[in-house]
Amino acid sequence: MSDGRALARAYLEQQRLLGTDAVMVPASGEADVPLPESPGSPPGLAESRPDPGGVPHVGRTPAVSPGRANVSGSSDLPPSGLTYDPPAQDLFSADPIQRAASLAEIADLVCRRIMCQINEARTNTVPGEGADRARLVVVGEGPGKTEDETGRPFVGKAGELLTKILSAIGLEREQVYICNVVKCRPPENRTPQYDEIAACVPYLFRQIELLAPGVILAMGNTAAQTLLNTKQSLGALRSKVHRFRGIPVIVTYHPAALLRNPNWKKPTWDDVRIAHRLLDG
Ligand code: URA
Repeated sequence: MSDGRALARAYLEQQRLLGTDAVMVPASGEADVPLPESPGSPPGLAESRPDPGGVPHVGRTPAVSPGRANVSGSSDLPPSGLTYDPPAQDLFSADPIQRAASLAEIADLVCRRIMCQINEARTNTVPGEGADRARLVVVGEGPGKTEDETGRPFVGKAGELLTKILSAIGLEREQVYICNVVKCRPPENRTPQYDEIAACVPYLFRQIELLAPGVILAMGNTAAQTLLNTKQSLGALRSKVHRFRGIPVIVTYHPAALLRNPNWKKPTWDDVRIAHRLLDG
C-alpha cells in the first residue's frame, strides 16, 4: 500500500481486529509519554494533534482520575469514556452502627445520634433492654409515653401485658431481649412514618445481628412489616414461620391491641406457643 489513506485504513482495521474501536488522543496540555515515531505509523494520525509543546501523541487514553469523567470543556475531542470509583472494600466499614460490637455500643449510639425528626420530640431514647444472649427477641413498634419517660421498652400497660404473656411460656423479661423498630416516641403515639422507620431500623437490624437469637416475636403491624419487608396485613402474616436473615419470625398482635380487643388474646397465645416450640426445638 503506497498512499497514506490506505495505510490509515489498514491501521484502523488492525485496531478493530484487536478490539480497539477508537483512537484516543489526549487533551492538550496533558502529561503523557511521547511515542516514538515508527515507520508503520499511519500518516495523519501520529501528527494529528501536537500538544502545545509540539510533541505528537497517539493511541493514548487521556489520564482521568478515578471517579471523574473526562469533561475537558475546551476540548473538541470525544470523551474518553465514563469511569467510576471501584466499590470500597466494605461499603459499611465506616458506618458506626455496623461497627458497633455490642448492644451497649448500639444503645450509646442511639442516645447520641439524631436520626430523624421524632428525636426532637422525645424525652428519652429507648434502645431496648434484656439479656445479651437472649434466645427470644421481642420487637414492638416504638416507645409510648411511659417508655419515653423512663427510657425502657414495654413498661407501660402494654408492657405489663407483655410480661404476663412471656411468663405464660415460662420466660422472665430479663431472659429475653425487648426492643422496638423506632427508638424514640413518635409524637402523640402516632405510627412511625416510613422515613422515620428507614432512619432508625439499622439499629434494630444490628441488634438482631449481635444477638443472633433463636426466634423473633414481631408484635404488631409495624414490627412484622418492617422485619419481613412486606405490606401484608398482620392477619395474613400470622400463623406462619417467616424468616429474617435466616432467623425464624413469628408475627402476632401488639399487646396494646390486645388491651383494646381482648378477643385477640387467644390467637396471640397460639402464636406465642409456636414461638416457644421453635425455641425448644
Ligand atoms: N409499644 C411498643 O411498641 N413498644 C413499647 O416499648 C411500648 C409500647
